[in-house]
Order: sequence, then C-alpha cells, then structure tokens
Amino acid sequence: MHEMSVALAVVDQVEQAARSRGPGGVRQVHVDIGELAGVVPGSLAFCFELACAGTVLEGAALVTRPVPGRASCAPCRRTWDTGMPPDLLCGGCRGPATALLSGRELTVTEVHWATEPD
Ligand SMILES: [Zn+2]
Repeated sequence: MHEMSVALAVVDQVEQAARSRGPGGVRQVHVDIGELAGVVPGSLAFCFELACAGTVLEGAALVTRPVPGRASCAPCRRTWDTGMPPDLLCGGCRGPATALLSGRELTVTEVHWATEPD
C-alpha cells in the first residue's frame, strides 16, 4: 500500500528530528499532500496511526493540507489548476504542459512537540 510507505517515511523523518531534540513526545505532524501524489488522506491517517505505534510519535495527530495541482505552458505563459484526474493540456495552445508546478508534494511542514506550550 502506497499510503503505508508514505506513513513510514513520515514517521522515520520525525523520529530522526526527535532524536536530536532529546526526550519528549510528538503532539502533531503537519503534512502537505499534493493532489497528484496519489495519496488518499484518510488512508494515510489510518496508516500513520499504525506506523506511530511503539515509536516516540505514538498518539500524535496527523494534520494534512491538500496542495492543488498546478501546471504551466511556457510558450503561452499560462498556468492552471490541473484538477484530478489531471488536465495537462494547455487551454491556450492545446499543447502538453511544459511544467508541473505543484501537486506532487508529500512534505512534512511542521512538527508540534509535546513539550511545547499550546
Ligand atoms: Zn500553451
């Protein structure tokens, strides 16, 4: 399952940060999820809980933020929301997008530690 490998990677990343911080748990992990990354937030939350069990992240909440897919066409200087399934044809010239600007993110953006005040 794709979500499980993503969840394990997130846990691994936060664990490494936690090690350099010393003792104390994790309250919340914020993750940006690109619309085109192929990750279902609900499934990720489920896998995240499993992946956290027995680690310093046990009991931490996952907060996901969806990032819309954006594509651009250099010749037309246009950018657009790709939607899902992604529309990668330029509305101006009907050519293929020359760049995908966003939508593939799977990024830990913030970690809230249990030792931090609210
Ligand atoms: Zn174009």
